[in-house]
Amino acid sequence: MKPYDIIIIGAGPAGTSAALFLEKRGCRIALLDQARFPRDKVCGEFISPAADAIFSELGVLESIEAINPVRLKGVALSAYERSWVQVDYPSSADGTTMSSLSVERLMLDNLMLGQVRNSQVELIEGFKVTDLLFDDDNVCGVKGYDEGKIEFNIHAKVVVDAGGRNSISLRRLNLKQGSSSEGKIALAAHWEGVRLPGQYCYMHISRPGYTGIAPVGQNKANVVLIVDKASLAGQDVDDFYRSTVLKNPLRREMLGAGEPAEKVRAVDSLAYSVKTPPCGGLVLVGDATGFIDPFTGEGIYLSLRSSQLASGVIAGAFNNFDFSKKQLESYDRVRRMEFHKKFLLSKMLQRLIYSPSLCIRVVKTLGEHKDLAGMLVGVIGDYIPAGRVVCFEYLLRLAGGTLLSQPSFLKTEKV
Ligand SMILES: Cc1cc2nc3c(=O)[nH]c(=O)nc-3n(C[C@H](O)[C@H](O)[C@H](O)COP(=O)(O)OP(=O)(O)OC[C@H]3O[C@@H](n4cnc5c(N)ncnc54)[C@H](O)[C@@H]3O)c2cc1C
Repeated sequence: MKPYDIIIIGAGPAGTSAALFLEKRGCRIALLDQARFPRDKVCGEFISPAADAIFSELGVLESIEAINPVRLKGVALSAYERSWVQVDYPSSADGTTMSSLSVERLMLDNLMLGQVRNSQVELIEGFKVTDLLFDDDNVCGVKGYDEGKIEFNIHAKVVVDAGGRNSISLRRLNLKQGSSSEGKIALAAHWEGVRLPGQYCYMHISRPGYTGIAPVGQNKANVVLIVDKASLAGQDVDDFYRSTVLKNPLRREMLGAGEPAEKVRAVDSLAYSVKTPPCGGLVLVGDATGFIDPFTGEGIYLSLRSSQLASGVIAGAFNNFDFSKKQLESYDRVRRMEFHKKFLLSKMLQRLIYSPSLCIRVVKTLGEHKDLAGMLVGVIGDYIPAGRVVCFEYLLRLAGGTLLSQPSFLKTEKV
């Protein structure tokens, strides 16, 4: 097969956005995916408000708006059925009213791919990449086969791996590191016939795990349940999922009139981090760079943003005709610096949600101090810098409110 400037593995949000960013810079690109689209993907389908600006830059926002998508006003959070806060997104720094898109992945990914189809990028569906090709220490292409099992080698100056959580680079170069949510599993299904009280992403922290519920259409919601794998204990997955979701009275009130409209899908080993590739010619974007946790629902934004950052560094590599590790690793540094505090926040939230009494108090405090709650959802929505929340002053105010929040409340009720 003919050589390209860039091969991108994977046509999810990271791969399609990387293709569109890099095509604008005049590169010859092949975008490969083992699937044929439209294809589905387990996801909370709740997209950070900050993603709008990137969709707009890529020319995709118009086609997303054309399907009349659900737009969420903010986040509602309950802790162990004992405390509750509902908070609207605060306006952005320039006074814009913020909202988040809630779009089924089957549609979103296909709309992004539609934009790729209208570009100069060569899209090859049904092509599974099985290995990376090397020239000395640099990656110089990929090897794989098409749907007829015919093998191909394709060469390029740079390979962008956007293959998601099981991407070939993570396996081939052993880049995946320990997980902070080892043993957790996500179970997801769309429900029909539900009556959600408003246009919010509803997060219910409860035993034996938490759920994220987002409306994705008329009386339709996406319900993701995160639990310890061990709590399934050999039960039928669909029965376990339905009964666990409905065990929580708040969820039962929202979903009780409805039913899952499909078989439950599962994803395990949720959070992981990833080492920098030890070679040139290779750049990782999206979930291939690591995954924090679905609780803050930011994976799509982080994927788009990582591709935006990567495209700048790759363009620089073409300008200098240097695709070495040294040239490309500045992307990793920039990305890690930008996302560092978000990852820290995610880890703090993980600790919090599995500490019931503290979690109840913090959510209660957020309910009483809407400015603190607003700042937190703005950070989770990726348009307020994480440093505004991951700082002494914010944590002190939160701790102050939490310490003052009626200790008797906890003594009298059993969690
Ligand atoms: C339970 C759960 C809930 C989530 N909820 C949210 C949420 O509410 N909001 C949010 O923003 N994010 C959420 N996320 C995260 C979000 O789904 C991911 O961050 C996002 O899909 C990452 O995009 P990506 O393009 O990197 O990978 P993917 O979307 O996984 O795309 C990877 C693509 O690569 C292809 N591919 C892989 N390997 C190969 C190969 N060898 N050859 C060819 N093709 C290959 C696959 O077919 C796939 O199409 C959630 C994730 C989970 C697990």
